[in-house]
Amino acid sequence: MHKAEVVICGAGIAGISTAWQLAVKHGMRNVVLVDERPPMTLTSDKSTEAYRNWWPGPDDAMVRLTNRSIDLLEEMAEASDNRFLMNRRGYLYATAEPGTAEAMRAGAVLAEGYGAGPLRVHSGQAGDPDYLPSPAGGWQGRPDGADLILDGALIRETFPFLSPNTVAVLHARRCGWLSGQQLGMLQLEAARVAGVEVVEGRVEWIEASGGRVSSVQIAAAGEVVTVATPRFVVAAGPMLRYVGSMLGLELPVYSELHLKVSIEDHLGVVPRNAPFMIWEDPQRIDWSDEEREALSEIAEMRPLLEEMPAGAHMRVEGGSGSRHILLLWPYHLEPVPEIFPPPVPDFYAEICLRGVATMIPGLGAYLDRLPMPYIDGGYYTKTQENRPLAGPLPIEGAFIHGALSGYGLMASAATAELVALHMTGGTLPDYADAFDPRRHEDPEYVEKIAGWDDGTQL
Ligand SMILES: Cc1cc2nc3c(=O)[nH]c(=O)nc-3n(C[C@H](O)[C@H](O)[C@H](O)COP(=O)(O)OP(=O)(O)OC[C@H]3O[C@@H](n4cnc5c(N)ncnc54)[C@H](O)[C@@H]3O)c2cc1C
Repeated sequence: MHKAEVVICGAGIAGISTAWQLAVKHGMRNVVLVDERPPMTLTSDKSTEAYRNWWPGPDDAMVRLTNRSIDLLEEMAEASDNRFLMNRRGYLYATAEPGTAEAMRAGAVLAEGYGAGPLRVHSGQAGDPDYLPSPAGGWQGRPDGADLILDGALIRETFPFLSPNTVAVLHARRCGWLSGQQLGMLQLEAARVAGVEVVEGRVEWIEASGGRVSSVQIAAAGEVVTVATPRFVVAAGPMLRYVGSMLGLELPVYSELHLKVSIEDHLGVVPRNAPFMIWEDPQRIDWSDEEREALSEIAEMRPLLEEMPAGAHMRVEGGSGSRHILLLWPYHLEPVPEIFPPPVPDFYAEICLRGVATMIPGLGAYLDRLPMPYIDGGYYTKTQENRPLAGPLPIEGAFIHGALSGYGLMASAATAELVALHMTGGTLPDYADAFDPRRHEDPEYVEKIAGWDDGTQL
Protein backbone atom coordinates (compact mmCIF):
# COMPACT_ATOMS: atom_id res chain seq x y z
CA MET A 1 0.00 0.00 0.00
CA HIS A 2 1.15 3.56 -0.78
CA LYS A 3 1.75 5.86 2.15
CA ALA A 4 1.60 9.63 2.52
CA GLU A 5 1.95 12.15 5.34
CA VAL A 6 -0.96 14.04 3.86
CA VAL A 7 -3.28 13.71 0.87
CA ILE A 8 -4.71 16.94 -0.53
CA CYS A 9 -7.83 16.64 -2.70
CA GLY A 10 -7.90 19.36 -5.37
CA ALA A 11 -5.17 21.09 -7.38
CA GLY A 12 -6.80 24.47 -7.76
CA ILE A 13 -5.23 27.42 -5.98
CA ALA A 14 -6.47 26.10 -2.59
CA GLY A 15 -4.79 22.69 -2.91
CA ILE A 16 -1.64 24.00 -4.58
CA SER A 17 -1.07 26.76 -2.01
CA THR A 18 -1.59 24.21 0.78
CA ALA A 19 0.93 21.84 -0.79
CA TRP A 20 3.37 24.76 -1.17
CA GLN A 21 2.99 25.79 2.46
CA LEU A 22 3.43 22.26 3.77
CA ALA A 23 6.34 21.17 1.58
CA VAL A 24 8.21 24.43 0.90
CA LYS A 25 7.58 26.42 4.09
CA HIS A 26 7.24 23.58 6.62
CA GLY A 27 9.48 20.97 4.99
CA MET A 28 6.83 18.24 5.16
CA ARG A 29 7.68 15.14 3.11
CA ASN A 30 5.32 12.70 1.35
CA VAL A 31 2.70 15.27 0.43
CA VAL A 32 0.34 13.92 -2.25
CA LEU A 33 -1.78 16.33 -4.30
CA VAL A 34 -4.65 14.63 -6.15
CA ASP A 35 -6.87 16.05 -8.86
CA GLU A 36 -8.96 14.40 -11.52
CA ARG A 37 -8.30 17.41 -13.78
CA PRO A 38 -5.06 19.16 -14.77
CA PRO A 39 -4.01 21.66 -12.07
CA MET A 40 -5.72 25.08 -12.02
CA THR A 41 -8.34 24.22 -14.64
CA LEU A 42 -11.73 24.17 -12.92
CA THR A 43 -12.35 27.49 -11.14
CA SER A 44 -8.90 28.88 -10.50
CA ASP A 45 -8.24 29.79 -14.15
CA LYS A 46 -11.66 31.43 -14.58
CA SER A 47 -11.03 34.18 -12.06
CA THR A 48 -10.80 37.91 -12.76
CA GLU A 49 -7.48 37.56 -10.89
CA ALA A 50 -7.95 40.69 -8.86
CA TYR A 51 -6.91 41.31 -5.26
CA ARG A 52 -7.80 43.84 -2.59
CA ASN A 53 -7.36 44.50 1.08
CA TRP A 54 -10.63 46.46 0.93
CA TRP A 55 -13.36 44.88 3.06
CA PRO A 56 -15.78 47.29 4.67
CA GLY A 57 -16.84 44.93 7.41
CA PRO A 58 -18.41 43.86 9.58
CA ASP A 59 -15.08 43.54 11.44
CA ASP A 60 -11.36 43.56 10.69
CA ALA A 61 -10.84 39.85 9.99
CA MET A 62 -10.94 39.97 6.17
CA VAL A 63 -8.73 43.07 6.02
CA ARG A 64 -6.15 41.40 8.22
CA LEU A 65 -6.31 38.12 6.30
CA THR A 66 -5.95 39.78 2.91
CA ASN A 67 -3.23 42.14 4.13
CA ARG A 68 -1.27 39.07 5.20
CA SER A 69 -2.02 37.34 1.91
CA ILE A 70 -0.90 40.37 -0.10
CA ASP A 71 2.31 40.50 1.99
CA LEU A 72 2.96 36.88 0.98
CA LEU A 73 2.07 37.56 -2.67
CA GLU A 74 4.45 40.52 -2.71
CA GLU A 75 7.22 38.32 -1.27
CA MET A 76 6.61 35.77 -4.02
CA ALA A 77 6.49 38.50 -6.67
CA GLU A 78 9.79 39.93 -5.37
CA ALA A 79 11.47 36.51 -5.32
CA SER A 80 10.28 35.56 -8.83
CA ASP A 81 10.99 38.85 -10.61
CA ASN A 82 7.21 39.36 -10.65
CA ARG A 83 6.56 36.27 -12.75
CA PHE A 84 2.83 36.56 -12.08
CA LEU A 85 2.65 40.21 -13.17
CA MET A 86 1.24 41.65 -9.97
CA ASN A 87 0.11 45.24 -10.41
CA ARG A 88 -1.34 47.68 -7.93
CA ARG A 89 -3.67 49.83 -9.98
CA GLY A 90 -6.33 49.79 -7.30
CA TYR A 91 -10.07 49.23 -7.32
CA LEU A 92 -12.08 52.27 -8.37
CA TYR A 93 -15.61 52.28 -6.95
CA ALA A 94 -17.76 54.91 -8.70
CA THR A 95 -21.21 56.33 -8.01
CA ALA A 96 -23.68 58.85 -9.37
CA GLU A 97 -25.58 58.96 -6.04
CA PRO A 98 -24.61 61.46 -3.34
CA GLY A 99 -25.98 59.02 -0.72
CA THR A 100 -23.67 56.27 -1.97
CA ALA A 101 -20.76 58.71 -1.83
CA GLU A 102 -21.50 59.22 1.87
CA ALA A 103 -21.72 55.45 2.38
CA MET A 104 -18.34 55.12 0.65
CA ARG A 105 -16.86 57.60 3.08
CA ALA A 106 -18.33 55.75 6.06
CA GLY A 107 -17.08 52.40 4.69
CA ALA A 108 -13.63 53.86 4.12
CA VAL A 109 -13.45 55.19 7.68
CA LEU A 110 -14.31 51.69 8.93
CA ALA A 111 -11.80 50.05 6.58
CA GLU A 112 -9.11 52.46 7.78
CA GLY A 113 -9.88 51.41 11.35
CA TYR A 114 -9.60 47.75 10.31
CA GLY A 115 -6.09 48.32 8.94
CA ALA A 116 -6.70 48.87 5.21
CA GLY A 117 -4.67 52.08 5.30
CA PRO A 118 -5.39 55.80 5.55
CA LEU A 119 -8.30 57.58 3.90
CA ARG A 120 -7.47 60.72 1.90
CA VAL A 121 -10.43 62.89 0.90
CA HIS A 122 -10.22 65.13 -2.17
CA SER A 123 -13.08 67.58 -2.11
CA GLY A 124 -11.59 70.34 -4.26
CA GLN A 125 -10.69 72.53 -1.25
CA ALA A 126 -7.40 74.26 -0.61
CA GLY A 127 -5.30 71.97 1.56
CA ASP A 128 -6.55 68.75 -0.07
CA PRO A 129 -3.90 66.01 -0.03
CA ASP A 130 -2.22 65.19 -3.37
CA TYR A 131 -3.89 62.48 -5.41
CA LEU A 132 -1.25 60.14 -6.84
CA PRO A 133 -2.51 58.10 -9.82
CA SER A 134 -1.54 54.42 -9.89
CA PRO A 135 1.06 53.40 -12.47
CA ALA A 136 0.06 50.54 -14.76
CA GLY A 137 2.65 47.99 -13.63
CA GLY A 138 4.43 46.87 -10.50
CA TRP A 139 3.34 47.06 -6.92
CA GLN A 140 6.22 48.63 -4.97
CA GLY A 141 6.21 52.07 -3.46
CA ARG A 142 2.52 52.78 -4.10
CA PRO A 143 0.19 54.37 -1.54
CA ASP A 144 -2.16 52.13 0.41
CA GLY A 145 -5.47 53.04 2.01
CA ALA A 146 -7.89 54.90 -0.24
CA ASP A 147 -8.56 58.17 -1.99
CA LEU A 148 -12.14 59.38 -1.89
CA ILE A 149 -12.52 61.90 -4.72
CA LEU A 150 -15.55 64.17 -4.41
CA ASP A 151 -14.03 66.91 -6.56
CA GLY A 152 -15.83 66.61 -9.93
CA ALA A 153 -13.03 68.38 -11.81
CA LEU A 154 -10.43 65.93 -10.48
CA ILE A 155 -12.68 62.95 -11.32
CA ARG A 156 -13.16 64.13 -14.90
CA GLU A 157 -9.50 65.01 -15.37
CA THR A 158 -8.26 61.66 -14.04
CA PHE A 159 -10.98 59.35 -15.34
CA PRO A 160 -12.46 61.15 -18.38
CA PHE A 161 -14.05 57.93 -19.64
CA LEU A 162 -16.34 57.68 -16.57
CA SER A 163 -20.00 58.69 -16.76
CA PRO A 164 -20.40 62.47 -16.47
CA ASN A 165 -23.01 61.68 -13.78
CA THR A 166 -20.30 60.36 -11.47
CA VAL A 167 -20.27 62.34 -8.23
CA ALA A 168 -17.65 60.36 -6.29
CA VAL A 169 -15.03 57.70 -6.75
CA LEU A 170 -13.27 55.73 -4.07
CA HIS A 171 -9.86 54.52 -5.21
CA ALA A 172 -8.77 51.69 -2.89
CA ARG A 173 -5.04 51.36 -3.35
CA ARG A 174 -3.67 48.07 -1.95
CA CYS A 175 -5.53 46.34 -4.74
CA GLY A 176 -4.90 45.29 -8.33
CA TRP A 177 -4.58 42.09 -10.28
CA LEU A 178 -2.12 39.40 -11.31
CA SER A 179 -1.86 36.27 -13.42
CA GLY A 180 -3.56 33.60 -11.34
CA GLN A 181 -2.32 30.83 -13.62
CA GLN A 182 1.31 31.91 -13.18
CA LEU A 183 0.83 32.27 -9.43
CA GLY A 184 -0.47 28.70 -9.27
CA MET A 185 2.27 27.32 -11.51
CA LEU A 186 5.00 29.11 -9.55
CA GLN A 187 3.83 27.46 -6.33
CA LEU A 188 3.21 24.09 -7.97
CA GLU A 189 6.71 23.97 -9.48
CA ALA A 190 8.31 24.84 -6.15
CA ALA A 191 6.12 22.29 -4.38
CA ARG A 192 7.17 19.56 -6.83
CA VAL A 193 10.84 20.47 -6.33
CA ALA A 194 10.21 20.13 -2.57
CA GLY A 195 8.90 16.60 -3.16
CA VAL A 196 5.14 16.99 -3.59
CA GLU A 197 3.74 14.14 -5.69
CA VAL A 198 0.96 15.19 -8.07
CA VAL A 199 -1.46 12.37 -8.88
CA GLU A 200 -4.04 12.59 -11.65
CA GLY A 201 -7.02 10.77 -10.18
CA ARG A 202 -10.29 11.07 -8.38
CA VAL A 203 -10.69 10.80 -4.63
CA GLU A 204 -13.45 8.22 -4.23
CA TRP A 205 -13.45 7.48 -0.55
CA ILE A 206 -11.82 8.58 2.69
CA GLU A 207 -11.53 6.01 5.45
CA ALA A 208 -12.17 7.75 8.76
CA SER A 209 -13.88 5.14 10.88
CA GLY A 210 -13.05 5.52 14.55
CA GLY A 211 -13.07 9.30 14.19
CA ARG A 212 -9.67 9.63 12.51
CA VAL A 213 -8.42 9.64 8.94
CA SER A 214 -6.51 6.47 8.03
CA SER A 215 -6.55 6.14 4.23
CA VAL A 216 -7.83 7.55 0.96
CA GLN A 217 -9.00 5.68 -2.13
CA ILE A 218 -8.05 7.24 -5.43
CA ALA A 219 -9.31 6.10 -8.84
CA ALA A 220 -6.44 6.66 -11.27
CA ALA A 221 -5.53 5.16 -14.63
CA GLY A 222 -8.30 2.56 -14.50
CA GLU A 223 -7.56 1.25 -11.02
CA VAL A 224 -8.34 2.23 -7.45
CA VAL A 225 -5.30 2.83 -5.29
CA THR A 226 -5.45 3.03 -1.50
CA VAL A 227 -3.08 5.51 0.11
CA ALA A 228 -2.54 5.13 3.86
CA THR A 229 -2.37 8.57 5.44
CA PRO A 230 -3.10 10.16 8.80
CA ARG A 231 -4.13 13.50 7.20
CA PHE A 232 -6.46 14.61 4.46
CA VAL A 233 -7.20 18.12 3.16
CA VAL A 234 -10.49 18.87 1.39
CA ALA A 235 -9.58 21.50 -1.22
CA ALA A 236 -12.21 20.50 -3.75
CA GLY A 237 -13.53 23.95 -4.69
CA PRO A 238 -17.13 23.67 -5.91
CA MET A 239 -17.17 19.98 -4.90
CA LEU A 240 -16.48 20.71 -1.22
CA ARG A 241 -19.84 19.42 -0.07
CA TYR A 242 -19.51 16.21 -2.04
CA VAL A 243 -16.00 15.43 -0.79
CA GLY A 244 -17.01 16.49 2.73
CA SER A 245 -19.83 13.95 2.59
CA MET A 246 -17.20 11.21 2.15
CA LEU A 247 -16.14 12.11 5.68
CA GLY A 248 -19.76 11.99 6.82
CA LEU A 249 -19.81 15.80 7.17
CA GLU A 250 -22.30 18.35 5.94
CA LEU A 251 -20.11 21.32 5.11
CA PRO A 252 -21.85 24.72 5.52
CA VAL A 253 -21.35 25.94 1.97
CA TYR A 254 -23.36 26.71 -1.16
CA SER A 255 -22.49 27.98 -4.65
CA GLU A 256 -23.38 31.01 -6.75
CA LEU A 257 -22.85 31.22 -10.50
CA HIS A 258 -20.32 33.87 -11.55
CA LEU A 259 -19.41 34.48 -15.17
CA LYS A 260 -17.17 36.88 -17.01
CA VAL A 261 -17.24 38.19 -20.55
CA SER A 262 -14.21 39.08 -22.61
CA ILE A 263 -14.61 41.36 -25.62
CA GLU A 264 -12.21 43.30 -27.77
CA ASP A 265 -12.40 47.04 -27.09
CA HIS A 266 -11.33 47.79 -30.65
CA LEU A 267 -12.40 51.43 -30.39
CA GLY A 268 -10.03 51.92 -27.46
CA VAL A 269 -12.76 53.25 -25.15
CA VAL A 270 -11.04 52.18 -21.92
CA PRO A 271 -7.47 53.43 -21.37
CA ARG A 272 -5.12 50.47 -21.01
CA ASN A 273 -3.76 51.80 -17.71
CA ALA A 274 -7.20 51.99 -16.05
CA PRO A 275 -7.75 50.53 -12.58
CA PHE A 276 -10.30 47.81 -11.78
CA MET A 277 -13.62 49.66 -12.16
CA ILE A 278 -16.85 49.00 -10.22
CA TRP A 279 -20.18 50.81 -10.53
CA GLU A 280 -21.65 51.08 -7.03
CA ASP A 281 -25.24 51.98 -7.96
CA PRO A 282 -28.19 49.73 -8.67
CA GLN A 283 -29.54 50.50 -12.12
CA ARG A 284 -32.36 49.89 -14.56
CA ILE A 285 -31.35 48.81 -18.03
CA ASP A 286 -32.46 51.25 -20.69
CA TRP A 287 -34.29 48.75 -22.93
CA SER A 288 -36.14 49.98 -26.02
CA ASP A 289 -39.96 49.64 -26.07
CA GLU A 290 -39.74 46.60 -28.36
CA GLU A 291 -37.12 44.92 -26.16
CA ARG A 292 -39.20 45.66 -23.08
CA GLU A 293 -42.24 44.07 -24.63
CA ALA A 294 -40.32 40.98 -25.78
CA LEU A 295 -38.69 40.49 -22.36
CA SER A 296 -41.95 40.89 -20.47
CA GLU A 297 -43.35 37.89 -22.33
CA ILE A 298 -40.75 35.51 -20.85
CA ALA A 299 -41.12 34.91 -17.08
CA GLU A 300 -37.37 34.32 -16.42
CA MET A 301 -36.49 37.52 -18.27
CA ARG A 302 -38.85 39.83 -16.38
CA PRO A 303 -36.36 40.56 -13.56
CA LEU A 304 -34.21 42.24 -16.22
CA LEU A 305 -36.89 44.91 -16.47
CA GLU A 306 -36.68 45.69 -12.75
CA GLU A 307 -33.96 47.50 -10.87
CA MET A 308 -30.76 45.47 -11.17
CA PRO A 309 -28.16 45.29 -8.38
CA ALA A 310 -25.02 47.39 -7.96
CA GLY A 311 -21.68 45.88 -8.84
CA ALA A 312 -21.28 45.89 -12.64
CA HIS A 313 -17.50 45.86 -13.05
CA MET A 314 -14.68 45.59 -15.54
CA ARG A 315 -10.96 45.62 -16.07
CA VAL A 316 -8.63 45.68 -19.03
CA GLU A 317 -6.99 42.34 -19.81
CA GLY A 318 -3.71 41.32 -21.41
CA GLY A 319 -0.30 42.83 -21.95
CA SER A 320 0.87 45.39 -24.45
CA GLY A 321 -0.93 44.94 -27.75
CA SER A 322 -4.06 43.48 -26.14
CA ARG A 323 -7.32 45.40 -26.52
CA HIS A 324 -9.45 43.02 -24.50
CA ILE A 325 -11.61 43.98 -21.57
CA LEU A 326 -13.40 41.78 -19.03
CA LEU A 327 -16.98 42.58 -18.07
CA LEU A 328 -18.85 41.15 -15.07
CA TRP A 329 -22.14 41.81 -13.40
CA PRO A 330 -23.20 39.38 -10.68
CA TYR A 331 -26.96 39.96 -10.82
CA HIS A 332 -28.00 36.31 -10.35
CA LEU A 333 -26.81 35.32 -6.89
CA GLU A 334 -29.25 32.65 -5.79
CA PRO A 335 -27.73 29.32 -4.67
CA VAL A 336 -27.39 26.93 -7.61
CA PRO A 337 -26.22 23.35 -8.19
CA GLU A 338 -22.65 23.07 -9.46
CA ILE A 339 -22.98 22.01 -13.10
CA PHE A 340 -20.06 21.86 -15.54
CA PRO A 341 -19.69 23.59 -17.88
CA PRO A 342 -21.64 26.32 -16.07
CA PRO A 343 -24.83 27.42 -17.85
CA VAL A 344 -24.70 30.91 -19.37
CA PRO A 345 -27.91 32.97 -18.96
CA ASP A 346 -29.42 34.30 -22.18
CA PHE A 347 -27.99 37.65 -23.33
CA TYR A 348 -25.42 37.63 -20.52
CA ALA A 349 -22.73 39.43 -22.58
CA GLU A 350 -25.11 42.14 -23.72
CA ILE A 351 -26.51 42.65 -20.23
CA CYS A 352 -23.00 42.97 -18.76
CA LEU A 353 -22.08 45.43 -21.46
CA ARG A 354 -25.16 47.52 -20.73
CA GLY A 355 -24.44 47.47 -16.99
CA VAL A 356 -20.81 48.52 -17.42
CA ALA A 357 -21.76 51.12 -20.08
CA THR A 358 -23.69 52.99 -17.37
CA MET A 359 -20.30 53.58 -15.75
CA ILE A 360 -18.31 53.97 -18.99
CA PRO A 361 -20.76 55.36 -21.56
CA GLY A 362 -18.27 55.04 -24.45
CA LEU A 363 -18.79 51.27 -24.28
CA GLY A 364 -22.37 51.87 -25.44
CA ALA A 365 -20.87 52.15 -28.92
CA TYR A 366 -20.68 48.34 -28.93
CA LEU A 367 -24.37 47.81 -28.24
CA ASP A 368 -25.35 47.98 -31.91
CA ARG A 369 -22.73 45.44 -32.86
CA LEU A 370 -21.38 43.46 -29.91
CA PRO A 371 -17.78 42.32 -30.52
CA MET A 372 -17.62 38.49 -30.44
CA PRO A 373 -17.76 37.73 -26.70
CA TYR A 374 -15.92 34.91 -24.95
CA ILE A 375 -17.74 33.87 -21.77
CA ASP A 376 -16.41 31.66 -19.02
CA GLY A 377 -16.69 31.39 -15.25
CA GLY A 378 -17.64 29.04 -12.50
CA TYR A 379 -18.91 29.12 -8.96
CA TYR A 380 -18.30 31.13 -5.85
CA THR A 381 -18.52 28.35 -3.28
CA LYS A 382 -19.02 30.15 -0.01
CA THR A 383 -20.29 30.14 3.54
CA GLN A 384 -23.32 32.11 4.70
CA GLU A 385 -21.06 34.87 6.08
CA ASN A 386 -18.78 34.78 3.00
CA ARG A 387 -15.69 33.80 4.95
CA PRO A 388 -13.39 30.92 4.10
CA LEU A 389 -12.99 27.59 5.87
CA ALA A 390 -9.30 27.14 6.68
CA GLY A 391 -8.35 24.64 9.35
CA PRO A 392 -9.35 21.39 11.06
CA LEU A 393 -12.61 19.50 10.61
CA PRO A 394 -14.22 17.60 13.48
CA ILE A 395 -12.47 14.35 12.49
CA GLU A 396 -8.89 13.82 13.56
CA GLY A 397 -6.52 14.36 10.67
CA ALA A 398 -9.13 16.00 8.42
CA PHE A 399 -8.67 19.60 7.30
CA ILE A 400 -10.36 21.93 4.86
CA HIS A 401 -9.09 24.75 2.67
CA GLY A 402 -12.05 26.12 0.77
CA ALA A 403 -15.18 28.24 0.53
CA LEU A 404 -12.88 30.77 -1.12
CA SER A 405 -15.83 32.44 -2.79
CA GLY A 406 -14.69 35.34 -5.03
CA TYR A 407 -11.32 35.83 -3.35
CA GLY A 408 -9.42 32.53 -3.70
CA LEU A 409 -6.54 33.92 -5.73
CA MET A 410 -6.01 36.88 -3.43
CA ALA A 411 -6.56 35.13 -0.07
CA SER A 412 -5.21 31.61 -0.56
CA ALA A 413 -1.63 32.48 0.36
CA ALA A 414 -2.83 33.41 3.86
CA THR A 415 -5.57 30.78 4.20
CA ALA A 416 -3.08 28.05 3.15
CA GLU A 417 -0.74 29.39 5.81
CA LEU A 418 -3.51 28.95 8.39
CA VAL A 419 -4.17 25.35 7.31
CA ALA A 420 -0.45 24.53 7.49
CA LEU A 421 -0.09 26.14 10.93
CA HIS A 422 -3.08 24.21 12.24
CA MET A 423 -1.63 20.99 10.84
CA THR A 424 1.93 21.46 12.07
CA GLY A 425 1.00 22.92 15.47
CA GLY A 426 2.54 26.33 14.71
CA THR A 427 1.51 29.60 16.35
CA LEU A 428 -1.68 30.88 14.80
CA PRO A 429 -2.32 34.58 14.17
CA ASP A 430 -5.20 35.90 16.26
CA TYR A 431 -7.44 36.29 13.19
CA ALA A 432 -7.32 32.49 12.69
CA ASP A 433 -10.49 31.89 14.72
CA ALA A 434 -12.57 33.92 12.23
CA PHE A 435 -11.72 31.30 9.57
CA ASP A 436 -11.61 28.16 11.71
CA PRO A 437 -14.22 25.77 10.26
CA ARG A 438 -15.26 24.71 13.77
CA ARG A 439 -16.89 28.14 14.27
CA HIS A 440 -19.95 26.77 12.48
CA GLU A 441 -20.45 24.23 15.29
CA ASP A 442 -21.17 27.11 17.70
CA PRO A 443 -24.93 27.93 17.67
CA GLU A 444 -24.24 31.50 18.86
CA TYR A 445 -21.98 32.11 15.90
CA VAL A 446 -24.48 30.62 13.47
CA GLU A 447 -27.18 32.88 14.90
CA LYS A 448 -24.87 35.91 14.69
CA ILE A 449 -24.14 35.46 10.98
CA ALA A 450 -27.77 34.89 9.98
CA GLY A 451 -28.39 38.41 8.67
CA TRP A 452 -24.76 39.24 8.04
CA ASP A 453 -23.91 41.46 5.06
CA ASP A 454 -20.20 41.74 4.33
CA GLY A 455 -20.89 44.60 1.94
CA THR A 456 -19.34 43.00 -1.12
CA GLN A 457 -20.92 41.64 -4.29
CA LEU A 458 -17.67 40.88 -6.15
C1 LIG B 1 -15.96 34.55 -12.61
C2 LIG B 1 -15.07 34.46 -11.40
C3 LIG B 1 -14.29 35.55 -11.04
C4 LIG B 1 -13.44 35.48 -9.94
N1 LIG B 1 -12.65 36.54 -9.65
C5 LIG B 1 -11.76 36.45 -8.64
C6 LIG B 1 -10.85 37.51 -8.39
O1 LIG B 1 -10.87 38.54 -9.06
N2 LIG B 1 -9.96 37.36 -7.39
C7 LIG B 1 -9.90 36.23 -6.62
O2 LIG B 1 -9.07 36.16 -5.73
N3 LIG B 1 -10.76 35.21 -6.83
C8 LIG B 1 -11.68 35.30 -7.82
N4 LIG B 1 -12.55 34.27 -8.05
C9 LIG B 1 -12.61 33.16 -7.10
C10 LIG B 1 -11.50 32.15 -7.31
O3 LIG B 1 -11.41 31.80 -8.67
C11 LIG B 1 -11.84 30.91 -6.46
O4 LIG B 1 -12.01 31.31 -5.11
C12 LIG B 1 -10.72 29.89 -6.49
O5 LIG B 1 -10.33 29.60 -7.80
C13 LIG B 1 -11.16 28.61 -5.79
O6 LIG B 1 -10.07 27.73 -5.83
P1 LIG B 1 -10.21 26.25 -5.33
O7 LIG B 1 -8.87 25.63 -5.43
O8 LIG B 1 -10.93 26.22 -4.05
O9 LIG B 1 -11.21 25.57 -6.40
P2 LIG B 1 -10.95 25.00 -7.86
O10 LIG B 1 -10.02 25.90 -8.63
O11 LIG B 1 -12.25 24.71 -8.45
O12 LIG B 1 -10.16 23.66 -7.61
C14 LIG B 1 -10.80 22.53 -7.03
C15 LIG B 1 -10.20 21.28 -7.64
O13 LIG B 1 -10.67 20.15 -6.91
C16 LIG B 1 -10.76 19.07 -7.82
N5 LIG B 1 -11.61 18.03 -7.25
C17 LIG B 1 -12.87 18.17 -6.75
N6 LIG B 1 -13.32 16.98 -6.32
C18 LIG B 1 -12.34 16.07 -6.53
C19 LIG B 1 -12.21 14.67 -6.29
N7 LIG B 1 -13.18 13.94 -5.72
N8 LIG B 1 -11.06 14.07 -6.64
C20 LIG B 1 -10.05 14.78 -7.23
N9 LIG B 1 -10.12 16.11 -7.47
C21 LIG B 1 -11.25 16.74 -7.12
C22 LIG B 1 -11.36 19.72 -9.06
O14 LIG B 1 -11.09 18.93 -10.21
C23 LIG B 1 -10.63 21.07 -9.08
O15 LIG B 1 -9.49 21.05 -9.92
C24 LIG B 1 -13.39 34.30 -9.16
C25 LIG B 1 -14.19 33.20 -9.51
C26 LIG B 1 -15.02 33.26 -10.62
C27 LIG B 1 -15.84 32.07 -10.98
